[in-house]
Amino acid sequence: MNATYENSRLYRLRHSAAHLMAQALTELFPGVKLAIGPPIENGFYYDVESPRPIKEEDLVAIEERMRELAKLQQPIVRKVAADRDEARCIILEECTLGQGEATAEYKLQLLEAVPDGEEVSFYDQQAASNGKVHRFIDLCRGPHIENTGEIEHFKLMHLAGAYWRGDVKNKMLTRIYGTAFESAEELETYLYNLEEAKKRDHRLLGRELGLFIFSPTVGPGLPLWLPKGAILRDVLTDFLRGEQLRRGYLPVVTPNIASHRLYEKSGHILTFREKMFPFMVDEEKETFILKPMNCPFHIEIYASQMRSYRDLPVRLAEFGTVYRYEQSGELAGMLRVRGFTQDDAHLFVRKDQLLEEFKGVVSLTMRVLEKLGLKEYRVRVGTKDPQSDKYVGDDENWQLAQEAIELACQEMQLAYEVSAGDAAFYGPKLDLIIKDALGREWQMGTVQVDYNLPERFALEYIGEDGKPHRPIMIHRAPFGSLERMIGLLTEQYAGAFPLWLAPIQVAILPIADRHAPYAQKLATILQGFASPDFKPDPELPEAPEVPGGAELRAQIGTEPVRVFVDQSRETLGKKIRENQKQKIPYMLVLGDRDIEAGTVGVRSREEGDLGAMPISEFVARLLRELR
Ligand SMILES: [Zn+2]
Ligand SMILES: [Zn+2]
Repeated sequence: MNATYENSRLYRLRHSAAHLMAQALTELFPGVKLAIGPPIENGFYYDVESPRPIKEEDLVAIEERMRELAKLQQPIVRKVAADRDEARCIILEECTLGQGEATAEYKLQLLEAVPDGEEVSFYDQQAASNGKVHRFIDLCRGPHIENTGEIEHFKLMHLAGAYWRGDVKNKMLTRIYGTAFESAEELETYLYNLEEAKKRDHRLLGRELGLFIFSPTVGPGLPLWLPKGAILRDVLTDFLRGEQLRRGYLPVVTPNIASHRLYEKSGHILTFREKMFPFMVDEEKETFILKPMNCPFHIEIYASQMRSYRDLPVRLAEFGTVYRYEQSGELAGMLRVRGFTQDDAHLFVRKDQLLEEFKGVVSLTMRVLEKLGLKEYRVRVGTKDPQSDKYVGDDENWQLAQEAIELACQEMQLAYEVSAGDAAFYGPKLDLIIKDALGREWQMGTVQVDYNLPERFALEYIGEDGKPHRPIMIHRAPFGSLERMIGLLTEQYAGAFPLWLAPIQVAILPIADRHAPYAQKLATILQGFASPDFKPDPELPEAPEVPGGAELRAQIGTEPVRVFVDQSRETLGKKIRENQKQKIPYMLVLGDRDIEAGTVGVRSREEGDLGAMPISEFVARLLRELR
């Protein structure tokens, strides 16, 4: 949660909605024990222990009571206890609302946790209606809005279990989640997007579209890429590899394990240990480490030869697979996995090159996001948390690196915010935080400036003055990782990838078996080679040649179209429905009349049935769209 949100009216509104829900609970579930009820990122919750268990079906009634209580226009009043004794009295006498002292159990523990000398405040709301007094008073730091009447647009979402104080040794409480907004439209949009997000869940789509799966036998957080997912990876890596070659990057390949000495030198063992898989010791007692980061390998490559100032910048790029030991509870589909491939690169630059190179990296990252259709993002500069000691390197270098990043943003006219505590342990960084089609934010492309690893590895180049100098390193990964990016793209497009990215671009649907050999001929023209799994039925007559085939093949050239021939023995209607589910951009229907006339029946994913058109017209349309 960011500071802007925590200071907003929405934040106070949601906090007050949590209180309002607690008030409804005390009325509907007498004897309920209240624990804590804060606002959170998308709403609020309250943790409670109820003598009568609260079920999902109860949410409607609780919400209904909240509406009644809101309409009583209860003023929300803050009051401060004179001292601890008075605070205790208020909790035991007023907060319990005559429901017995036992209901104050958690509040009393919270009071004890308030540090000595700190003010203890309460928020009190009450109103009378039909001769009955409704009241709720809670031990709370606030702040709140002024009146319950302002809480109009809210909804209770779901229940979950939560341990008191997040400790498994403690009692399991019931957590009731809700959300509230300033307007009905915002609430509606939020609820709509939630539903839409469920439909777009990349874990479901990944399986349905044949992109990737997880297997409990393989282990948590270790995705298996299926053919279509692997094609998607290839398309993305080919695209980035091309952009990198044009910008003077040099490809390298490094191993998946290394001696502990490498990671001792880099400082990872000290600062990154908790994210590393347990170490391996071989028979000669040498310790090996499964690669959690590519950087130290690239540094070794840089250091493997004498470098002159004329050699710099050196830009080493690798699609490097790394392994990180994420807690199993934190794994989330492709968004957090234990093994993933970074589109990594490390640039070794001179001081006078830093700004230009940094800008080059940021503009490459922006080019990548634009091509992927991720056009909305904000820029965050992550700096050191002054309170923490988890960083390496001296303050002066940190300062220099941060200045370079900010200057680059200013020169590129990028609006950015500075966020303390978001740096890597070896240097400050710039993150592009993408807003997806549903308004959710994803931290993706990262660029880091690093003075520290060159220092630790004593990297050098010989300057114009003939003396050794230390290069500066830039770490960057525009996709972040292929796993995370494909997870995001799957949700962004709800599986309907743009034509250039779609694992299968064209599905050919022969209406009857006898049309299959011709369909296959057409496929070989579009993809430039024959599909090895095609087994023509020897009973069927030889198919005629595709008109203008040689010419079409030449037009398609070296970038084959990714084609699938649907040879299933289903009806045409069923075939169309199946391929629609696979979200393939184009379907070509082939029957007797098409073969005779040299046409195909074209169905576009976006525009529907386009009717019959000559094959050459379809190919021209396809190539226009692709290039
Ligand atoms: Zn509160
Ligand atoms: Zn790195």
